[in-house]
Amino acid sequence: MAQTEWKVYVATDLEGASGVWRFAQTRDRTSALYVQAVEYLMGDIAALIHGLREAGAAKIVVADGHGGGDNFIPHLMEPGATYITGKPRSPVEGLDKTFDGVVLLGYHAMKGTADGVLNHTRSSMTEMRYWYNERESGEIAQTALLAGHLGIPVIMVTGDTATCREATRFLGRNVITVVTKRGISREAAELYPLQETRTAIFEGAKRALAVISRCRPYKLRMPIRCKREWIESIEHPSESRIAVREASIRDVNKIYAF
Ligand SMILES: [Zn+2]
Repeated sequence: MAQTEWKVYVATDLEGASGVWRFAQTRDRTSALYVQAVEYLMGDIAALIHGLREAGAAKIVVADGHGGGDNFIPHLMEPGATYITGKPRSPVEGLDKTFDGVVLLGYHAMKGTADGVLNHTRSSMTEMRYWYNERESGEIAQTALLAGHLGIPVIMVTGDTATCREATRFLGRNVITVVTKRGISREAAELYPLQETRTAIFEGAKRALAVISRCRPYKLRMPIRCKREWIESIEHPSESRIAVREASIRDVNKIYAF
């Protein structure tokens, strides 16, 4: 391929970042543990940008995705990219057909994955679960669908071992996966020194542009039969019940609001 102006979009989450393994690091924004966790994420982002730049990426846009999507710490922004944060906005704000590939950084496995650190789908408080065309899907598939709809493949995913396994299962073997920790249970993990995971992210990113032509945009048969399950009334456990909603959706952009 003669293309030289590669454009890469990076969708980020916090649960799969190096050094993050408990909800105390991801839920309470006033906690020092949360601020430290976002610092870990910023370090992973920096390693990724170094690698993508070295591989020849001309434009990199990094989107803040965890929770409300306003986590980034400006003074830790690595040069060589722009950063989208704040709300309200689309989860893939700024992503259009001119991009060549998408990286999912700091992602986590879908709700119910036994060895998935901080596993959940969209909300860990209401324990949401999603199915598209009868296949249970997590946030990897959801973001991949939004990109796939524009014809853009996911080329690299970082997170724990369960996240990388899920990425390969949904997106195929050519997607580069980088393990940041090994999940033992929902809030237990075998961690690796940050220096080592960042070297692995840097090395993965250096190879990511080379797999663009081998990664397929993630698409589903239309209309997509969507099902969502969640637990209602979590404040009063005695009254809680599983709620179900189903719909047939043609507009992929409506998937996130369903
Ligand atoms: Zn998150």
